[in-house]
Parts: sequence; C-alpha cells; structure tokens
Amino acid sequence: MKLHEYQSKFRFAEYGVPIPQGKLATSPDDVFRIAKEIGGPVVVKAQVLVGGRGKAGGIKLAKTPKEAQKVASGILGMDIKGLTVKKVLVDPAAEIEQEIYLGVTTDRTARKPVIIASGEGGVEIEQVAADTPEKIIRQHIDPFLGVREYQARNLALEIGLSREHWKAFARIADGLFRCYMASDASLAEINPLIVTGDDELLAIDGKMVIDDNALFRQPSLAEMRDMDDEAPAETQARQAGLSYVKLGGEIGCMVNGAGLAMATMDMTQLFGGSPANFLDIGGGAQSDKVAAALRIILADPNVNSVLFNIFGGITRCDEVARGILAALDEIPTDVPMVVRLVGTNEEEGRALLADADMTTATTLAKAAQKAVEAAKSYANAEA
Ligand code: GDP
Ligand code: MN
Repeated sequence: MKLHEYQSKFRFAEYGVPIPQGKLATSPDDVFRIAKEIGGPVVVKAQVLVGGRGKAGGIKLAKTPKEAQKVASGILGMDIKGLTVKKVLVDPAAEIEQEIYLGVTTDRTARKPVIIASGEGGVEIEQVAADTPEKIIRQHIDPFLGVREYQARNLALEIGLSREHWKAFARIADGLFRCYMASDASLAEINPLIVTGDDELLAIDGKMVIDDNALFRQPSLAEMRDMDDEAPAETQARQAGLSYVKLGGEIGCMVNGAGLAMATMDMTQLFGGSPANFLDIGGGAQSDKVAAALRIILADPNVNSVLFNIFGGITRCDEVARGILAALDEIPTDVPMVVRLVGTNEEEGRALLADADMTTATTLAKAAQKAVEAAKSYANAEA
C-alpha cells in the first residue's frame, strides 16, 4: 500500500526528519487561506499516488495567496496518469541549492534493509541507476543496530555532501530508517532531500510503501488507504480475500495455491498463451469467494478464455463448482472456459458442471493447451 506525499512526510517528521511546515487542502479557497497563513511564496502539490507529478504539471510555485488559489484551481480536478487530483499539499516554497536522493528499502538478496543515497536527486532514481550506476551509493543496515554514524558519514562523503551537513544528514538517515522499520515499510524515500538557501537540509518530497501483510498490526496506517487510487479489481479482490495481480495476457486463471498458480501461468506460456492475471483463491475457498474471483476475471476485457485449475485438498471441488455456477448465473458470458478439477469431491464437482458449457481436462498440461486454443478461436471469432 502506497502512502501519499503528505502522509509520508508527516510520518517522517515524527522521526525527526525536517519537512516544510505545510498543510493539506481540498479546495482553492482552502489553499488561499493556508498560503496567507504561511505568508510567503508557496508550492502547491497534487496528492496522487504516482511519481513524476512535477513533469505532469501537478506541482506549481505561487508568490501570493491569490496566485496559489489560481494554480490550485488548475491542479484540483486535474488528471495525472489516470488519477484525479482531489487533494493538494500547500508547502512554503523552498530555495533549492542541491537535490539529493535518500531512500530505505529491503535488499532481498542480502536479506537486510539497505539505505540508498545519490547526489543526483530530484530525478527518477531508476533513471540514475540505469544511466550512471556509479552515482548510487548503498549501505546495508543491520536491523538490530540501526544506522551507524560511520555509515551515514560514508554515504554523505560518497554523494559529495559538504562536511557541514554531515551531522544533519546522519540524523535524517537515522530517522528515515527508524520510520521505515516502525512502519513495516518496503520503501521509505525522500526525493529530493534538499540543501536550502539557508544551508539547511529539508525533505521536500516523500514516499512510503507499506507491506500489505503487516497492515494487521499497523491499524493507523491501514486507515490511510486511498480507495480512489486503487484499481477497482484490486479493491474487490482484497475485500474478497483473494490474492490477485492483473497481468497483460488473455487467459484468465483461477487457481488455488500460489505455487499452483505460478505453475499454471508457466504452463499457459509454454503452450503459446499469456496469463491475464495471477489469482490465488487460497485454501478452503467457499463458493462466494470463487464467484467473486470469476467476476473479477470476466470484468477484464482482455480475457479470451478462463482456465480453472483446482487441486482439491482442503478446498472442495463441489464448492468451487457451485461458485462458478453462481457467478455465471449472474454474468452470462460467451468467454470459453476450461476446467481442471481434481481432488476432494471431484466427482460431485464435475457432475455439477456437466450441464454448463465447459471444456474439461484431467491434466494441467492438457487444460492449459485447451485454454490457449480456446482463447485463440474466441479472439478470431471476435475479430
Ligand atoms: P515528483 O515530481 O512527484 O517527484 O514531486 P516532487 O515533490 O519531487 O517535486 C518535483 C520537483 O519540483 C522537485 O524536484 C523540485 O525541483 C521542484 N520543487 C518541489 N517543491 C519545490 C519548492 O518548494 N521550491 C522549488 N524551487 N522547487 C520545488
Ligand atoms: Mn519527487
């Protein structure tokens, strides 16, 4: 789950990271009032969960409250990469002498958190990594020791930060790291961290990604989720307790178990198809969950066939069949379906589906092959 810039920065501030003293607004009048309170030039910033807002015209400087109100009315309601801007952050404008990148993430290979810093801040870090990898500096952090003074100094030295800022930089790196750990984040990022005209360090942008699996113990963060910024299919999947990831292919897959789902996707690829999604309905799924999953799959216009691959252990094949029938009752479709049902109550399951117009298969290879063929002929018939 991603947090907005204002949510991330306010949280960073709780860990001693200096941020501009700004406020959130939802209307141009609000912006006028806040800008007046701030009393100098301000920056009005679109709060949407995508990067590159600056380039998209979602970040504007304004010298007076009137001008801030005017730019805000342009930004509020604006579309940035498919998301509508409903909130803006109004920050006192900062004078930028230097832009730095500072982030904490997990290095899965090293099985440790890692702090990443670069003197090339303000631009997308992926771009810096691709063009000039030598300008990206890393320090692995022992989660039990935290950021050691020497590690922060190494980073500061390597990114070319002048010595007078090292102490402040170390405090910020330490605060950002503690915030990352305490929030169960997979990313905590300041881009850019700037040196101001007054020679101080200031975090003027913030981004956090929280590990969804930890939200049960982060209730205050879970509350911050912005439903508007999530694809409807993902919201529905989460609410139904399904693990769902949309992909670009044409074969909808409904599978129980993550490993089996992976194998199913591999198998469709092997036979020349491409999966439309990863979808794990989990163990012991009841019919309502199966129905929800099928609704999500069929709502994807790219889907040209659906492949059910159910290995019944705790999950009962008859329950799955009932869910499929319930969903089909509700949404009649001519998308071809291929079913492989094996394991607990497979006979009952197959009997239930006998009257539905579905292709059956007993092995995964056969099922995948048939789903790929069905998708091809469906696409040809549509064309
Ligand atoms: P992003 O484009 O979504 O990453 O949004 P940022 O908050 O990082 O802003 C993009 C760029 O706008 C920054 O890299 C700065 O160059 C500029 N910017 C943002 N806030 C200020 C500010 O207060 N003063 C000035 N002069 N520029 C700013
Ligand atoms: Mn940024």
